[in-house]
Amino acid sequence: MFSSPEVWREFFESYYQNELNRLADAIISLDGAGRSIYVDFLRDLAIFREGKLAEELLEYPEKVIEDASKGIELAFNIHDVRLENCVARFMNLPLTRRILIRDLRSEHVSKFISIEGIVRKVTEVRPKIVRAAFLCGACGNEVMVEQDDVMLKQPYECRNCQSKGRFILLPEKSEKVDSQRIRIQEYPENLRGGEQPQTIDVYLEGDLTGKVNPGDRVVVNGIVKARPRAYGSKKLLHMDIHVEGNSLEILQQEYEEFEITEEDVKKILELSEDPRLYEKVADSIAPIIYGYETIKLAIALQLFGGVPKKLPDGSEIRGDIHILLVGDPGVAKSQMLRYVHRIAPRSVYTTGKGTTSAGLTATATRDEVDGRWTLEAGALVLADKGVALVDEIDKMRPEDRSALHEAMEQQTISVAKAGINAMLRSR
Ligand SMILES: [Zn+2]
Repeated sequence: MFSSPEVWREFFESYYQNELNRLADAIISLDGAGRSIYVDFLRDLAIFREGKLAEELLEYPEKVIEDASKGIELAFNIHDVRLENCVARFMNLPLTRRILIRDLRSEHVSKFISIEGIVRKVTEVRPKIVRAAFLCGACGNEVMVEQDDVMLKQPYECRNCQSKGRFILLPEKSEKVDSQRIRIQEYPENLRGGEQPQTIDVYLEGDLTGKVNPGDRVVVNGIVKARPRAYGSKKLLHMDIHVEGNSLEILQQEYEEFEITEEDVKKILELSEDPRLYEKVADSIAPIIYGYETIKLAIALQLFGGVPKKLPDGSEIRGDIHILLVGDPGVAKSQMLRYVHRIAPRSVYTTGKGTTSAGLTATATRDEVDGRWTLEAGALVLADKGVALVDEIDKMRPEDRSALHEAMEQQTISVAKAGINAMLRSR
């Protein structure tokens, strides 16, 4: 292996001296927040020593990240302090390491990868023990045990009296770190018809916790971990995978950038001169359906969207319009919806029948794994900055339908339940 604390010390001193000094400042002033250095993978790491460290990080992330943290500890800084317990975080990975959630396989286990998706669920931020302190029941000696699994590991024996007997956990003397679990889902717009969106859980620690909300679009860089499924107290051969997050990049919530060629620009400019522009655009919506010019025009205007206005007194007026289609059965309302679902760059399709207010907006539930409260995003949050299409809205129960009011007019969704107070966006 090329990676060692010494090589990392050299790397940080030559590329991140300002960051090292900032960490030293934070340690001197006892500021607990943000003890980490963000390393730009493509800009810096990939060119350092012919990219050897970069390659090793991708293949053996566990050891390399540990080396990097030790390297930070050794590094020179203005206050000449030891930069203890600092974490190296890596971002801006090459797109070749960007793995689709549905393509995660056993070959990726223990490797450093990057996944992109929409945050579906977040748990509360809670402390987690990393080094547990135990009291020996026989002699009263204190024993520390490193924890690296989900289950609490007991000491094997007391170093003082060799007793293998009873040990009492001392929570207040144990070393703890903030922890949070989030669930990432594939982008709804990337699914082909009928595909079930796939998800993966990401474990976050330290200063990464409490950063994201359901509905956020993120890139998570981290290590793929596998662990045997538990069946009662037994462990099975089948494994579940999750990602141990090393860094988070929250993406700007804008439409994906389209490639517009010069020819496109020419055509667009040409069209803008056309006196029948409105009709032409409207006609291009669901051309297979005959008539309904007004509805098609309304849909076109909705897809283009408007501009939100801010009034002098600070209140805001939304810039997006909502459309309610009412009509007899069999007059192509659902056809229109499906057409919009196909062409809108970001859209979520759901049907009112059987949909609850929680499924549309957001809900706080107790998690099935560890009983923590989690906040889960519904269809309107997932369609933030896009189009949410609700078919058969009349089949919804009135109390569920009323959940739409805040989401439509204020374009926010407030959740206040079980100590979770959150405001999500639904634009
Ligand atoms: Zn003892």
